[in-house]
Amino acid sequence: MRILFACLITIIEHLSDIYTPFLQLNKRKVIFLYMYDISAGWFKQSHKVCSPNYNDRPENIAVDAIVIHSISLPPGCYEGDDISHFFVNELDCDKDPFYDEIRGLEVSAHLLIRRTGELVQYVNLHSRAWHAGQSQLDEQENCNDFSIGIELEGTDNSPFEMAQYNTLTGVVDALMDYFPKITQERIIGHSDIAPGRKTDPGTGFNWALLAKKIGKKG
Ligand SMILES: [Zn+2]
Repeated sequence: MRILFACLITIIEHLSDIYTPFLQLNKRKVIFLYMYDISAGWFKQSHKVCSPNYNDRPENIAVDAIVIHSISLPPGCYEGDDISHFFVNELDCDKDPFYDEIRGLEVSAHLLIRRTGELVQYVNLHSRAWHAGQSQLDEQENCNDFSIGIELEGTDNSPFEMAQYNTLTGVVDALMDYFPKITQERIIGHSDIAPGRKTDPGTGFNWALLAKKIGKKG
């Protein structure tokens, strides 16, 4: 079913280059209605893995930012489900020497986009996931309070897959629709809000491509 929709969108994208803006509108609807829609804080098209690592956002705070990260466990390995094990506090830390560095950490993100484009959701979007740590955006500290955290499976110094950009575009568009205060300027990397401490999503992330793809549906 997912492949069918992907094909449909490819055809519509091609046609929309010719018949804009009419088909732009239809394309937006196709993506929103059939690929990435959110119900009660959960993406219907995600694989749901519930993490205990979350709490309530402060009262009267609007979700108005998206923080993009990268992660792979062990670093550079794209097999298995260790990211999910990590986010649900079930990682076997004796399995790899790197895991000593993250032993005992209790963290999460709202979403993970795997190399295949598969979307995994760990925390309800209305809840506060634990992805940003000590951080600041403009004058606001504690970015977990007001942001959505999206992990891309990857490393800080290698390219991401086009399937990941395709999923990310649909997810970001759906989030901007669901949380209208999110603007394109407030879609930022972990390295932007924790400089000197974090380097993800890293040099391999193509910000211009993301901006272009989002802009196409605007
Ligand atoms: Zn990060």
